[in-house]
Amino acid sequence: RTDVEPDGPKVFEPAMARHSVERLTLASRMRQAIEGGELDMHFQPIVDARTGAVCKLEALARWPQADGSFIPPDVFIPLCEETGLIVPLGQWVIETAARARVALVSHGFELPIAINISALQFQRADVAAQLQATARAYGLAPDALQVELTESSLMDRQHAVPTLKKLGIEGIHVSLDDFGTGFSNMAYLRDLPIDALKIDRSFIVDIDADERAASICRSMIALARTLGMTVVAEGVERERQYAWLRENGCDQLQGYYFAVPMPMAVLAAHLRDRAAP
Ligand code: C2E
Ligand code: CA
Ligand code: CA
Ligand code: CA
Repeated sequence: RTDVEPDGPKVFEPAMARHSVERLTLASRMRQAIEGGELDMHFQPIVDARTGAVCKLEALARWPQADGSFIPPDVFIPLCEETGLIVPLGQWVIETAARARVALVSHGFELPIAINISALQFQRADVAAQLQATARAYGLAPDALQVELTESSLMDRQHAVPTLKKLGIEGIHVSLDDFGTGFSNMAYLRDLPIDALKIDRSFIVDIDADERAASICRSMIALARTLGMTVVAEGVERERQYAWLRENGCDQLQGYYFAVPMPMAVLAAHLRDRAAP
């Protein structure tokens, strides 16, 4: 017997009940973690491909556990989307990034910080208004905080077009994340104000070994060029990937080869070390 019969009703198995009870427990712990300020934010440097200098940071949320481990965002973001917690989580992310920016500037590093906005969050929350209000409250320049959206955020054009225009008018830089993994057609690139394309890590993995992967990357870089967008590669782990991307005109690079995501205190020391002669 299978859980789901082809045309019949879904058979509810005890295993599924356990599963959903576990998810409910996890969701209520997540709510407490957001309200109790138990989440952490890590920051990963993005470097200029030509100079190697850090030009931006990406904020990546972490949920630390009592035993010292982390629950990764790939697990808790979908959970937050299912339970509506994505809106308070998103507000926490924006505020935390704003405070981090203030701290960075006080350390002498005026770097923009990009935050991730999930598709459901983009739909449910007025991200442009939240960013604007937070930037004003913390006295930030409009380009201090940036956003990363995925192609799925752009599917509902009725919502996406005015929201992106609003972000553009406010001077908030928008990157299209995980580029190449979505299923939508690319017409949206023509008339939406998007500043940068982030080529998904899956295309970068064997860029230096697989001619087909390399061809796809070359096309994505050319496309970004033609449209006047910045092109960013994520998941750069090896010197050879770095060399390939630099030679093929990628603008910015992110990955373990350069730096892993790190908490603010560690990041400040890392940036100071890099800046030292
Ligand atoms: P993403 O936006 O594509 O973020 C990049 C992910 O790749 C991060 O995983 C980062 O730690 C990882 N990464 C960076 N460099 C390398 C590398 O060289 N090799 C490999 N293998 N991985 C690398 P992380 O932090 O686990 O985040 C996973 C996803 O969760 C993110 O994917 C993003 O979609 C989502 N996410 C993270 N933080 C937030 C958040 O605050 N809000 C929302 N809505 N989503 C978030
Ligand atoms: Ca991202
Ligand atoms: Ca990405
Ligand atoms: Ca990704």
